[in-house]
Amino acid sequence: MFDPYLVISRKYRPKSMDDLKGQDLLVSSLRSCLDNKKVPHAFLFHGIRGVGKTTVARILARCLSCVGQDNLTDITSQPCGVCRSCIAIDRDQHMDIMEFDAASRTGVDDIREIIDSTQYAPVLGRYKIFIIDEVHMLSKSAFNALLKTLEEPPQHVKFIFATTEMHKIPETVLSRCMVFPLRPVSFDALSNYLIDIAKREGTTLDDGAARVICEESGGSVRDALSLLEQSMMLSDDDNIIASKSVLEMLGSVASSEIESLWNLILSSKTKESLAKIESFMKGGADPTILYKSLQNALYKLIVKRVNDGVGRHDNTSITNLLYLWQILLKQSENLKNAHFPEYVLNATVIILSITSSFQNIEEMMINNDNPNVIPSKSDKTNEVIDSILNKFPGSVASEVE
Ligand SMILES: [Zn+2]
Repeated sequence: MFDPYLVISRKYRPKSMDDLKGQDLLVSSLRSCLDNKKVPHAFLFHGIRGVGKTTVARILARCLSCVGQDNLTDITSQPCGVCRSCIAIDRDQHMDIMEFDAASRTGVDDIREIIDSTQYAPVLGRYKIFIIDEVHMLSKSAFNALLKTLEEPPQHVKFIFATTEMHKIPETVLSRCMVFPLRPVSFDALSNYLIDIAKREGTTLDDGAARVICEESGGSVRDALSLLEQSMMLSDDDNIIASKSVLEMLGSVASSEIESLWNLILSSKTKESLAKIESFMKGGADPTILYKSLQNALYKLIVKRVNDGVGRHDNTSITNLLYLWQILLKQSENLKNAHFPEYVLNATVIILSITSSFQNIEEMMINNDNPNVIPSKSDKTNEVIDSILNKFPGSVASEVE
């Protein structure tokens, strides 16, 4: 059996640039920075949650601190793993590397504490390294206090910032950092990574199951690993994790099933669409997850239509699909507040299905008897969507009250 939660993500946490999966551009930029000894005072890593920002920050700290077996090695993109510095980092005991979570320590006093400690020389390594996670959470006065040190930091000080919300960081701070984006990890890279880790844990994750986990995690390695960990409890007698078990665990259904639901909706087969949803629900599907799957599948369909060419004029033209997309977006607000999300799901599918019966949604709404629903040129899309939704008063989560 496998070890408790978090063990997998800790156990397989990358320790070197070579171990970082799906961040090739970032890795090559950092390598060139380190190998050419052109190291800025402050680094900023940004990207979605769980994509590896803190992991990269720690690897970078390791690269900056390694002194090699001979104690003489300069900064390196390939830390030795055996010097006193590398060993101290592995044990989370390096006295010169300090990690802060700005989400819990946002005030100016917390930053002053950091600034005061920059005065003292490092004990073990060549740099004092301050890793500040979720740095966008710092207060305005904390940023101002930090700015002075960032302008003229002591030679032995390096800052490594990580954030999910770069737009919240003042321009004055950003301009003093070397900024590195972390992309969501690609499907293929993440899928291979999960299959490999499952193998090392003595189980087989089949391709379908890996795909389902990747889709659900949206490119976040941490989320994917946590789902893998949960899935391991579902492996069969032969230690195989099948997509069916993962889908059941997530309350989801196979993407081929969602595609066939869309085919019914786009053919305006309302009754059949509802019957399909009912069968999904009987199989244990979660209405909120189904809704998300419907959105994802429509997005893929729109992208496919764009790639196929924009010239079509039928109920699945790009314009029509984009209106359906808007309906899903608007209804998702109702879904969030609903006591019975399956009602909103069903109502939305009815709207989508009926709306799909029109060759040209825009014209249909403009030719409506009621002049009030004629969309204005300024905000046509919204007006068309509102007028569609107004035609179905029951759809707007009245069950919330
Ligand atoms: Zn070392």
